[in-house]
Amino acid sequence: AHLNRIAETDGKVHAFLHVDTEGALAQARKVDEAVKAGEKVSALAGVPLALKDVMTTEGVPTTVGSKILEGWIPPYDATVTRKLKEAGVVILGKTNMDEFAMGSSTENSAYGPTHNPWDLDRIPGGSGGGSSAALASLQAPLAIGTDTGGSIRQPGAVTGTVGVKPTYGGVSRYGLVAFSSSLDQAGPCARTVLDAALLHEIIAGYDEMDSTSINAPVPPVVAAAREGLNGDLSGLRIGVVTQFSGEGYQQGVARSFEAAVSQLKELGAEIADVSCPSFDYALPAYYLIAPSECSSNLARFDAMRYGLRVGDDGTRSTEEVMSLTREAGFGPEVKRRIMIGTYALSSGYYDAYYGSAQKVRTLITQDFAKAFEKFDVLISPTTPTTAFKIGERTDDPMAMYQADLCTIPANLAGTPAMSVPSGLSDEDGMPVGLQIMAPALQDHRMYRVAAAYE
Ligand code: GLN
Repeated sequence: AHLNRIAETDGKVHAFLHVDTEGALAQARKVDEAVKAGEKVSALAGVPLALKDVMTTEGVPTTVGSKILEGWIPPYDATVTRKLKEAGVVILGKTNMDEFAMGSSTENSAYGPTHNPWDLDRIPGGSGGGSSAALASLQAPLAIGTDTGGSIRQPGAVTGTVGVKPTYGGVSRYGLVAFSSSLDQAGPCARTVLDAALLHEIIAGYDEMDSTSINAPVPPVVAAAREGLNGDLSGLRIGVVTQFSGEGYQQGVARSFEAAVSQLKELGAEIADVSCPSFDYALPAYYLIAPSECSSNLARFDAMRYGLRVGDDGTRSTEEVMSLTREAGFGPEVKRRIMIGTYALSSGYYDAYYGSAQKVRTLITQDFAKAFEKFDVLISPTTPTTAFKIGERTDDPMAMYQADLCTIPANLAGTPAMSVPSGLSDEDGMPVGLQIMAPALQDHRMYRVAAAYE
């Protein structure tokens, strides 16, 4: 049924880059046989899922939304992919994304934009717009995203779906094509909080293949989501981050957030304002750290190892083939970031740019720690605005970067954060998201709040 739904709707939505009909049906049959044979299967066995095209899939194309990986068939599965398969989850295919996960609208995909199912003239968020659009258009009940600066939560918010960035190190990065390794984190996307929790427990856990994987028990997110469903938050202390309001925030978003605060109070939570002054510098710090790490990570796309190779006709030097390939294979946003990152890391500028950004990162971590002394969770709108029109911000990178104003601090601090649907804006009728943030390894706290609120 989901494959049919994709066939009917994806001409308009363009959530998928590749639909793996055969693989999906084979996995579904396998689960069916296991169930008939009376074997014990996971809670999500047989449930279809849309996988962001940043995760390697053995034998199935993985492009990361880039021409440079066109035609590359990975010889191995990412840990997330492997865990999904082992749990009997049916992977329907690979979803569209901004090239190398750099963007907030999916317009940076080399394969054309994805459209927001709520209004096809609008963006579905990014970089994981394909995954969130697949959920919102009922093509899949579950999806996987990755969040370096907001790419799970912002698409979740603008498509009216749930998106979770777990604690950094909670889900393995092995086989996740790297953008900014100290920030990248994979996580669950779903239409309900409990669905996201079930998926979270399947993909999370220690992995020796990822040097930053946390060797600790997976936070009990399913139990917390179930507890939240009883709707009682009495005694829970919630902080409203004051930096995330005011200028640049649409009235419809602000009103939806006020309504969310009232509703959380009715559920018994104690709510007060909290100031995190360093959050004002999160965006500039991120746009030095992320490009710096990207300039280093993307050096591996050298025309020798993977995918595209341009100009290799026997007359050119290795260096010429490398630069011709990188020129043809990378899109403008990726090139912009490689340039910024190379500059920020160069000797003479390193301390002024990269070094300063790292100091801001420490201040942000300290602001979170201070806030969590007083509050169990923090909340804010997930995004300053609802989904904007396709094309509206493509000529203005600074305007595009604003979409992640509220989501980036959690990436810099490595703390978990999620977006849960918060109704429709009374300005334009488009979905709005409520962001819930928790201390590291306390992912279950935000699930409890989200499930109670939902
Ligand atoms: N929009 C942000 C960026 O362009 C975040 C991307 C992400 O989380 N992958 O870098």
